[in-house]
This record gives sequence, structure tokens and C-alpha cells, in this order.
Amino acid sequence: MNREAIHVSEEKLIEQKAYMAKVKETLTSNKTYHIVTLGCQMNVRDSETLSGMLEEMGFTAANTREEADLILYNTCCVRENAENKALGNVIWLKELKKDKPELIIAVGGCMMQEEGMADKLIRQYPFIDLIFGTHNAYRFPEYLYRVLSDRQQFAEVFNIDGEIAEGLPVKRQSPYFGFVNVMYGCNNFCSYCIVPYVRGRERSRSVEDVLDECKRLRDQGVQEIMLLGQNVNSYMGGGANFAELLYRVNALEIPRIRFMTSHPKDLSDELIYAYKELEHLMPNLHLPVQAGNNEILEKMNRRYSRERYLELVMKLRAVCPDIGLTSDIIVGFPGETLAQFEDTMSLVKEVRYDAAYTFIYSPRQGTKAALMPDPFTIQEKTERIQRLIDLQQAISYETLLSLVGNTEEVLVDSVSLRNENAVGGKTRRGHMVNFEGNMNLIGKTVSVKITSAGKNTLRGELI
Ligand code: SF4
Repeated sequence: MNREAIHVSEEKLIEQKAYMAKVKETLTSNKTYHIVTLGCQMNVRDSETLSGMLEEMGFTAANTREEADLILYNTCCVRENAENKALGNVIWLKELKKDKPELIIAVGGCMMQEEGMADKLIRQYPFIDLIFGTHNAYRFPEYLYRVLSDRQQFAEVFNIDGEIAEGLPVKRQSPYFGFVNVMYGCNNFCSYCIVPYVRGRERSRSVEDVLDECKRLRDQGVQEIMLLGQNVNSYMGGGANFAELLYRVNALEIPRIRFMTSHPKDLSDELIYAYKELEHLMPNLHLPVQAGNNEILEKMNRRYSRERYLELVMKLRAVCPDIGLTSDIIVGFPGETLAQFEDTMSLVKEVRYDAAYTFIYSPRQGTKAALMPDPFTIQEKTERIQRLIDLQQAISYETLLSLVGNTEEVLVDSVSLRNENAVGGKTRRGHMVNFEGNMNLIGKTVSVKITSAGKNTLRGELI
């Protein structure tokens, strides 16, 4: 059951702040850091805290890994290729360290919570200075102090669910956009997923802590927030469910609110209705379906049927006709037949997602699905996923084309790297639009007439 979080005690936080001051005293010259973040938005948000702590300790951000005095990998283990990427990168650092022996290499994140992974790294990669997990990331200042003082490898990973540390320094990536964690962990144990094993059971922040962080962001001028959780709509903080929390956040008058990731089984009517009621809740929802066939959904332990999922989509569109839906889809779950895959194709045709993140199933050690027999070859799975990608791309393009001629409200968030007179931003529904403009527009919400559609983005003219 989802429970309210246990907080890191005030004493432990004061202790970490003391370590931040000690590290700062230890640094004899300007030191720089570079964080490589792999994986999901939860990791991006964790990296913002790690950056905040590093800057509090006197480090400044380096533009590249090569320039940095400290390189930190915030890893992901949701798929095998994310792990291979992290390990490949870490091996590359060995060479860098030969030329730069003072370089500090730290590795944290979900991968370190996998059984045996930290031990493997300790044995095989002695050039890594610091290894820590997700549950003890708030102790990073203490660990770094030890590494700087002792100049020897230090590793610590907790196997208990993490306590939540409030009030740590944060360096946000954007002054206009903010991630806000509302809950951590997952209780669902989908049979293919490693998250419950590495991020622990669900625990929610209190409504007050979430609202305080949102208010601070609003007062700093943030225009859009993304409420985050591995299973955000199972939030239960101090008796308030996620829909109730959304109503409270909406009242803060932050222009745009989004959230992710939602589980279809926890999408209540109250939450669906919020799309009609809440003016700041943007009309888009990431609602991973994973598969369109009931037998596969059951083997995945998703706890909804294809029919129930389609009913949710119908209800959402009834209250919010222009809602844009996105999804995650796994192709080639163990034993998935061609006919079962065709059910996923037909569901995609029926729902017509704005975008879908499609993956070939990747076995994760320790999960139930990793033990299921699978007679299908990677070639068969690759052919299937290509068909799915082609289908989704065609649907995405048709959706973008249907928006040509509309006037969209766009929150400008970037300048084109190739053309300084072109800017980009997102519509309320979440589509990216590029148009002529200068960097003074960044952080502003403007009206843009959509003039054409590309495969993934829209083009328009400022009105
Ligand atoms: S809901 Fe399922 S897929 Fe999502 S994090 Fe939890 S176990 Fe993993």
C-alpha cells in the first residue's frame, strides 16, 4: 500500500550540510563537475539535486566531461542497453583518468540498486572513486568528503526504501520549467519491470511539501511544472489522493501543469474529470498501455484489460476532446505471438496516440518475465517493432497536419542551435513548434499560427 514518506531527520540533513561546508573548505582551487544523466525524468530531477549539492560545495558546471574535475554518472537500469551504455561510458573514463589522475569518478542511480551491481563495479572498475544508490543519494556530500580526504574508493548502497530528504539544494535546468516529485517507488510489480526492486515501495510526499515546492517555483517565475512519480496517480499523501493534490496545485495559478507517469489501473474518474475542471492542467496525458492483447497484459501483470484501457481513453476524450495521449509499448514480450502483436497494432490504430515510445522487450534479471519461455527471435521482434514505428509515425504526422491553420498557445523554451532567429516551444497539448523569433521570447507564452507540419514538429508564425 502507498504510504506517506518517512523523512530524513533534521539532524541527518544538518550533518550533510556540514559535509557540504567541509568539502568546500577542502577544495583548494576552482573545481568543475559534469553529470551524465541516463533514464527517466526522475533521474533528471535527482541530477538537479546532485548538481545543487555540488554547487553548494563550491563546484561549478563544466561544459564537457573532458573539462570536468568530477564526473558523475546517474544511471538507469530499465533496459539492458541503458546499462551497457553506462558501463561503456565508465570504461571510457578509465582512459581519461590515466591522463588526469586527480579526476573523481562517481556512479549513482538505479543501476547501483541492482543486486550485485555495486560489488561488480567495485571489483572490476577500481578507478571509480564513489558508488552510491538512489536511497542514499542525499548523503553524497559525506561520501564525496570521504573520497577527497582518503583518496580511496568508497561505496555504499542501501537496500531499504529511501527516506525522503526535503530541503536539499537544487540546481534547476530551466528557470521556466520545474520537475516536482510527488511520490517515489512502485508497488505494481509488472512482470517485466525492475523499478520496484531498485526504487522500492511507493511513498508519497506530503501535500504541504509538494505545495511549498510548487509555490517556490511559481514565485521564481516558473511557467510550467511536471509532477513526477513512478506511478504518480497512486499518490496518497496525508489522506489526499492525486486528483485532490492536482486541484490544490491548480489553485496556485502556475500557468501550466503536467504529470507523469500514470498507470491506467489508477486513473480514477475524479482524475479524468480534472481535465475538464482545471484550467492549468494541460491537455495531454502519458498513459502507457504496453500491449493491446489481454493475455499479454495479464502475463505483464498490468491489471487492466484492453477493453478497460479503451474505455478510459473514451472517457478522457469525452471530458477533454483535444487531449493528446502518449504511450509506452513493449514489443516481443516473452511468448507474444504475431496475432497478439496485431492486437497492439489495432489498439494503436484505435487510440491514435500523439506519440508512442516503443521498445523491444529487454529481460531484467530478478523479474518474473525474465524466466518466461520465449520462442521468438530478435529478427521477428525487430520486424514487428518497425511496423509499429511506421504506423505510429504515420498517425503522429496526420495529427500534426490536422493542426495546420490553428492558432496555438506556445510556451517558448529554446533558441534554435542552427538559427539564432528561430525559437521553439510547446503547445498546451505538448507538440513542439518552431517559428521565427528571438531569445527575448524565452519563458513567455505567445500565440502562434501553425503554418506547416514536419514528421515530429510543427512550424508556425508568431501572431
Ligand atoms: S507501474 Fe509497472 S512498469 Fe511502471 S514502474 Fe511500476 S512496475 Fe514498473
